[in-house]
Amino acid sequence: MQHIGIFGGTFDPIHWGHLLVAQTALSQVPLEKVIWVPSFNPPHKKVVLFKHRWEMLQLATKQNPEFTVSQIETKRSGTSYAINTLMDLSSGYANTHWYWIIGLDTFKTIPRWYRGNELAQMCDWLIAPRLLGGETIAESEVICKQVEQQFKEQSVAIDWQFLDLPLVAISSSLIRQLCHKGQSIRYLVPESVRSYITAHGLYSSKSE
Ligand code: ATP
Repeated sequence: MQHIGIFGGTFDPIHWGHLLVAQTALSQVPLEKVIWVPSFNPPHKKVVLFKHRWEMLQLATKQNPEFTVSQIETKRSGTSYAINTLMDLSSGYANTHWYWIIGLDTFKTIPRWYRGNELAQMCDWLIAPRLLGGETIAESEVICKQVEQQFKEQSVAIDWQFLDLPLVAISSSLIRQLCHKGQSIRYLVPESVRSYITAHGLYSSKSE
């Protein structure tokens, strides 16, 4: 049986926080690889073109042979839902145990996801700490247990584990805001991503 991690997100753009989370998952769970899955048409989010987000993911991950970037979400029309992504990916990999890598902020929302009850049980969840409102790591684990309890009340069992990594307060929104204000994003994203953003004028006030 092989073990594969999926890291889904809008990655608008990818930043060092994402990369550290994925690498930590590889180191702390016996995963053969991490498949990055940029959302093609995410629910509730307006994003830059898929082509740009995909290119930036490629640039940021190409040095790591245990990372691959998937275009699987481009193969479906309509809104990109995580359960469809997992089912589509599963059909291409026999005998695989799946892990979904996710930040705490996003994990909290799974009970509201499309077919969340089914998805919750289809893979293990690897949760990265993320500051929501100044809570400690111990309080973050309590939040995960609350989510587990919410599912349990509906007879759904969810397997999760907390990844051990330092909190990284970088977000794609922060990068977009800095670009918009014309401020530097150096050291918040890989240099190749920073160059791509500059070359294509992404997120600047002029590109709107
Ligand atoms: P935005 O600011 O636009 O909401 P984001 O930085 O949260 O974007 P996404 O692409 O939406 O980035 O996130 C993909 C996944 O990575 C989500 O599960 C999110 O919780 C997680 N994630 C993103 N940044 C971090 C971080 N700094 N630490 C831990 N998890 C993170």
